[in-house]
Amino acid sequence: MKQENSVIRLANGLKHQARKRFGQNFLHDQQMIEKIVKAISPSQENHIVEIGPGHGALTKPLFESGADLDCIEIDKDLAKFIDNQFANQPNVRVHQSDILKFDLNILSDKDRTLRIVGNLPYNISTPVVFHLLKNHELIDDMTFMLQLEVIQRMASSVGQKNYGRLSLMTQYYCQVEHLFNVPSSSFTPKPKVVSAIVRLTPHQKFPVKVRDPKCLHVVIRTAFNQRRKTLKNSLKAIMPPIALEKLPIDTSLRPESLSLKDYAVISDAISS
Ligand code: SAM
Repeated sequence: MKQENSVIRLANGLKHQARKRFGQNFLHDQQMIEKIVKAISPSQENHIVEIGPGHGALTKPLFESGADLDCIEIDKDLAKFIDNQFANQPNVRVHQSDILKFDLNILSDKDRTLRIVGNLPYNISTPVVFHLLKNHELIDDMTFMLQLEVIQRMASSVGQKNYGRLSLMTQYYCQVEHLFNVPSSSFTPKPKVVSAIVRLTPHQKFPVKVRDPKCLHVVIRTAFNQRRKTLKNSLKAIMPPIALEKLPIDTSLRPESLSLKDYAVISDAISS
């Protein structure tokens, strides 16, 4: 995403230069902020984790709901700013940290207790989602602002244009709901891409059963590494073609023609 660095005046009078390397596009459109918060529907019973609070556009209304709030912000200046804004508020804790290195287990050890939200930095949005899914059992739901194109890939079904590794892995772990789009004019600086809000709700019961989820990851990654090849060829490195041929799957197909169920069959044949 190409954009100019912009200088923004913060609530405390200080100026902040938006940092491209941290994917900083700040929400300023009050109506849109309200719409997003309504979609999250926070309450005082919730334990919310906000990724990248930035200037606090979402943090303030989330705090006002009475929810318990952990904010994870990589930018030292912004982490300090948010910390000052919510000083003496015991239900707000700010962690100056990289979400990709942050361990959710330090926030909760109970299943399905965390609600994760954030207007995610687009340059790392997919790795962030994969990182969080490592602790899927701790998460009740996730509501994110992402690039529309990424949400379309997450929600795509077998045979559709955007179907791929991201669709399969996201849908293995979560129900995916594309809620609404957000125009570039809602941000400062304006991103060059269309944004949207997605809700990801980890399944209570997985849509397919596999012996070893790590093996499923490897099979899907290997198949899509060579998207133009047939399965017979792309999976050679992890499964002898003769064993693959024995499965009830057409191995002359390309990876985008197989469903999650098909990948589960291959994964179980390898890990048996
Ligand atoms: N929530 C604010 C808003 O909606 O206006 C800011 C959103 S901005 C798109 C992304 C935020 O994530 C920035 O505050 C940025 O500094 C922060 N960020 C970027 N990379 C991060 C990382 N690896 N870990 C935690 N926060 C990160």
